[in-house]
Amino acid sequence: MTHTSPTVAMTDRDFEQVVLCRDPGAGLESVIAIHDTTLGPSLGGIRMRAYPDPDAAVADALNLAQAMTYKAALAGLALGGGKSVINADPTAPNRRELLTAHARYINSLAGRYIPAVDMGTTVTDLELVGQYVPRVSSQRRDPSSFTAQGVVAAIRAAVRVSEDTSLAGVRVAVQGLGHVGRLVVGLLTREGAQVLVSDIDARPVAAVVAETGATAVPIDDVLVEDVDVVCPCATGGVITEPVLEQLKARYVIGAANNVLADAPGLADQLAQRGVIHVPDFVANAGGLIACEAEIRGGDTDLADRVEGIGTTTHELLQRAGAERRSTVAVAVELAQARLDQRRAQRPYFATR
Ligand code: NAD
Repeated sequence: MTHTSPTVAMTDRDFEQVVLCRDPGAGLESVIAIHDTTLGPSLGGIRMRAYPDPDAAVADALNLAQAMTYKAALAGLALGGGKSVINADPTAPNRRELLTAHARYINSLAGRYIPAVDMGTTVTDLELVGQYVPRVSSQRRDPSSFTAQGVVAAIRAAVRVSEDTSLAGVRVAVQGLGHVGRLVVGLLTREGAQVLVSDIDARPVAAVVAETGATAVPIDDVLVEDVDVVCPCATGGVITEPVLEQLKARYVIGAANNVLADAPGLADQLAQRGVIHVPDFVANAGGLIACEAEIRGGDTDLADRVEGIGTTTHELLQRAGAERRSTVAVAVELAQARLDQRRAQRPYFATR
């Protein structure tokens, strides 16, 4: 697989800073990507994952950091976009050493990157990182429940035909039953939706089926089931050309970051086929909204602000529909407009 090199990405995609970290003593290979700090310090999770090669780790960090810029801008937060990845198996025995070494690199950035929890890391890990870095999110709570609430708000806003329509009878296929997916299933079934579920791990499938009455389906079928909504809550890149060919759902709305294998191309194809796609950086912003509240120290109206993802979704879909453009193109344009407006207010950035 080929990936964009950091040097190309820095100019082509306006990255401010990409840090490649190595600490042979601790066994650390990690990347910290800061995409844009126009709106505020960058905030994004620390992902721990064994990548097939170092370039794949860099590519993931870059893509995720860029999406965080758009996510913060569209959620109206005074935050920039950043992300970091540790290229290691999350079950590695030297986890503590890896996180400590990575934390020291984060600290060297003097607050330009605020870490949070992500795939492969936990609230306990962030407490450890917090011993070395003054400003850390996800130390107090896991943001997943807020992410799940926002995803369901986005689904409700997209599928409802009137203000009072609930999700009763709506058929949803959820891929991935981790921190977010299992909570999404709980919220959906509580509203009377008919939910199909799948996970590569049989244990959460059995638990979720028992808890919620959802129906398990094979992992290869979940995205192409005959449902109203496909809700990817596992890894990114799962909406591919072959999946699109077989897609029966009218809506694609989930938590998984960078869900389209080829973002601009597949977003256009989805729009041309009349599939309503809410970009992940809109639908999954609930966790970021909660992380921002945590570092600011104020939870007032948090649930309402996460619910506001429904309003953002509604406005985005209206505009994309009226302009006959993909939701990704419109959402990126809206985020970019907020960044440009802020830069125009700050002479230092005006020439960028
Ligand atoms: P997680 O690691 O807890 O859960 C992921 C689940 O997906 C696991 O149960 C795993 O077994 C399953 N899975 C992996 N590959 C699969 C496949 N091919 N088919 C079916 N199941 C598969 O992760 P999470 O925290 O629940 O996050 C899910 C997604 O949402 C990720 O892409 C993450 O980046 C994104 N996200 C999460 C949050 C959050 O608050 N946790 C916020 C924003 C975005």
